[in-house]
Amino acid sequence: MIQITMPLNFLGTVYREIRQALIDMGDMFDLLGQPAEVKDKPDAKPLKVDGGRVTLKNVSFGYEAARPILKGIDLDVAPGQTVAIVGSSGSGKSTIGRLLFRFYDVGEGALLIDGQDVRDVTQDSLHAEIGVVPQDTVLFNDTVRYNIAYGRPGASEEEIISAAKAAKIHDFISALPEGYDTTVGERGLKLSGGEKQRVGIARTLLKNPPILLLDEATSALDTDTEMEIQAELKAMGEGRTVITIAHRLSTIADADRIVVLENGHIVEEGKHEELLEANGRYAHLWNRQQSEEEPA
Ligand code: ADP
Ligand code: MG
Repeated sequence: MIQITMPLNFLGTVYREIRQALIDMGDMFDLLGQPAEVKDKPDAKPLKVDGGRVTLKNVSFGYEAARPILKGIDLDVAPGQTVAIVGSSGSGKSTIGRLLFRFYDVGEGALLIDGQDVRDVTQDSLHAEIGVVPQDTVLFNDTVRYNIAYGRPGASEEEIISAAKAAKIHDFISALPEGYDTTVGERGLKLSGGEKQRVGIARTLLKNPPILLLDEATSALDTDTEMEIQAELKAMGEGRTVITIAHRLSTIADADRIVVLENGHIVEEGKHEELLEANGRYAHLWNRQQSEEEPA
């Protein structure tokens, strides 16, 4: 099964070197030297999502034994909740997403979706239930239609157009000389960062997953475009469980809960106002960003 819906900012650069339109995640790991030892158990069952609760129980993990990245993380994301993970670069935010996808197995503890350990379910079924919008959406050298339909191969033209409309990219596509048949990607029409993210959102809307992972989905965009895309991301999150990783804190201030990751631990959690009130780590990060954003 084709699995690059998670185009992975961590694979970004290397990935762009891969010129094949279709590649399977196993092959990709081989190419990139990523561990491919994560295999389905012989008795692995399809994941059954009922609401989409995501639970990390005392999760510890390191890419190398000598260097732990996550140390005993407890996190419970209730069905339909939006939880934001913040923390400095390298603090392990994206790693949590990779564990959720089971690109790696946890060192200790467990990661559960609706009570099912991700190690006990088939990876195909796991990947089918999680949608990802990464920092840079990877576009294939193919038509816009193909790039959106990739979210759900076999989708009808109406479904593709409806997803594009919801992602506010339909008018743009329609105005192209070849419309949905326009070739995009490296060898086709180059889309702007915002346009690419909208194609990514359309793709994910078509996939319609109960669980969404937004990994710095707008951090490569300018502030105006970020604000526009943010509205579509928010709409997409309605009725889904959302884990959102953000650099710019203003984009996650309305999350149901914010957790601050530092040195492998969750050092703070709460709502935006509560965390400002607490005047701890989050408040410090927030104040620093506010002063950076003030016009000189
Ligand atoms: P964040 O998303 O918070 O910026 P990451 O979760 O991507 O951070 O990375 C956490 C730490 O793990 C970083 O120090 C990073 O260099 C390291 N890391 C990430 N991927 C790998 C890998 N495949 N092998 C070894 N170390 C890695
Ligand atoms: Mg990251």
